[in-house]
Amino acid sequence: MKITSIIAACLAGAAAVKAAYDVAAPSALPLLPPGARPEGGFESLCVKCGKCIEACPYQSLHPAPASAGALAGAPCVDARIQACRLCAEFPCIEACPTGALAPVESKADVRMGVAVIDEDTCLSFQGMRCEVCYRVCPLIDEAITIDYRKREGDALHAVFAPIIDEEKCVGCGLCVERCVVSDPAPAIRIRPTGEPEAAQ
Ligand code: SF4
Ligand code: SF4
Ligand code: SF4
Repeated sequence: MKITSIIAACLAGAAAVKAAYDVAAPSALPLLPPGARPEGGFESLCVKCGKCIEACPYQSLHPAPASAGALAGAPCVDARIQACRLCAEFPCIEACPTGALAPVESKADVRMGVAVIDEDTCLSFQGMRCEVCYRVCPLIDEAITIDYRKREGDALHAVFAPIIDEEKCVGCGLCVERCVVSDPAPAIRIRPTGEPEAAQ
């Protein structure tokens, strides 16, 4: 076989492997800290110095994994492990030397993402009393409310359904951290700011 044919075969093989990897491991958008600038602003300004990670008193921030693509190594929150506590003075933002994390006035102005409930696995939607996410929400009765409704085909049990207000939820993830469902996954997740709704 000629050397050019060998190189062409190798390049074709490498392209096939890359294509397979891209399908199998698309880059997942991480949940960024409070104040993260939108629309690529954070990505272009964050130098991955880790100062916000060091400043967080709750150890809520850690470097994003390789699956985050260009954001790998940037600070992010894994809400199931440790949600953001929305500290009054936002030490993470204070510590950022580049402005990748922009100042926010109050916790209600944070826009990390939006909570999304899986009605197929949430206990409340199955007619049980839970509402843990509602009770732990730092914006209780604003970001989450409870909607009382009758259960279809069930004369005995009502549904106390947690409802997210997408305009008011800040995406801190405390509801995810505390959700009582874990198998196969929590019944609530955060859709990070910038992730399209269809990607739920
Ligand atoms: S607001 Fe507080 S808990 Fe949340 S990431 Fe910043 S320092 Fe950590
Ligand atoms: S992410 Fe959950 S706990 Fe945080 S504001 Fe939204 S609904 Fe409340
Ligand atoms: S904590 Fe989980 S299971 Fe309970 S009401 Fe909230 S989302 Fe549903």
